[in-house]
Amino acid sequence: MFLSDYHSHSLVSFDGEFPMAHMAQAAVDAGLNQLCITDHCDFLDQDGAPVRTYDWDRALSQFDEAAPLHSREGFSLRLGLELGMPHLDPAAAERICAQPRLDFVLGSVHNHSPEQGGIDFYYADYSTAAACRKALDDYFASLALLAESGFYDVLAHIIYPLRYMKPADGPVTLEGYEDRLETLLRAAIARSKGMEVNTWCGRTLADWLPLLKRYRALGGEIVTVGSDAHAPGNVGKGVSQAFDLLREAGFRYVTTFRRRKPEFVPII
Ligand SMILES: [Zn+2]
Ligand SMILES: [Zn+2]
Repeated sequence: MFLSDYHSHSLVSFDGEFPMAHMAQAAVDAGLNQLCITDHCDFLDQDGAPVRTYDWDRALSQFDEAAPLHSREGFSLRLGLELGMPHLDPAAAERICAQPRLDFVLGSVHNHSPEQGGIDFYYADYSTAAACRKALDDYFASLALLAESGFYDVLAHIIYPLRYMKPADGPVTLEGYEDRLETLLRAAIARSKGMEVNTWCGRTLADWLPLLKRYRALGGEIVTVGSDAHAPGNVGKGVSQAFDLLREAGFRYVTTFRRRKPEFVPII
């Protein structure tokens, strides 16, 4: 059965340390048919300082080293990018995504908005449910701007900050955010864009089912699956279970990308 992992990081990412060749070998070993490397290009760094460049020379040399090693029947390596908050600078997003060999772009929000200081959600204070709600309000406002910007193929890990939110005074859920979620899914669908199921290395699975069902009910057809692996041992983690969720939500295809064009691969 076809399996693809469309979210992974190599040493080209600030938080990665493994060559693309190692990640690709791990994908082959895990029995995957496709791996897309989606290194970070965040328009805000972890402290909120602006960044508007991407080291394509480094990414392409890593890719050129890895792809021939692993080009074989039944497996292919794709070149992607995880673009953080491209709506902050459309001209820079346009310039960076003009790389002709780019296959796929994940659109992400990892940081607070510049108005809220811009720091990475990873570092925020989640000690109370109220603090979590405040962060989520800012997050979804940015995600709506991203969804409308169109500088992405698929919205990455829509429920991202929830990973870190474990306040003492109760669990934080997406209750109350249904309308905002629907608005941003509609914005993606209207632009022929998709959503990803991000397994967070196998840790986040069932949480995706309601969102998948909602996206499909609204007419969405483009779904990628990604592990968000930063190390070879996590490549493909949770991907097979995520494909099960797709089928459960009624999808008959998973989406892959070549040169920014979606391709639909049957999963039934
Ligand atoms: Zn991310
Ligand atoms: Zn990532």
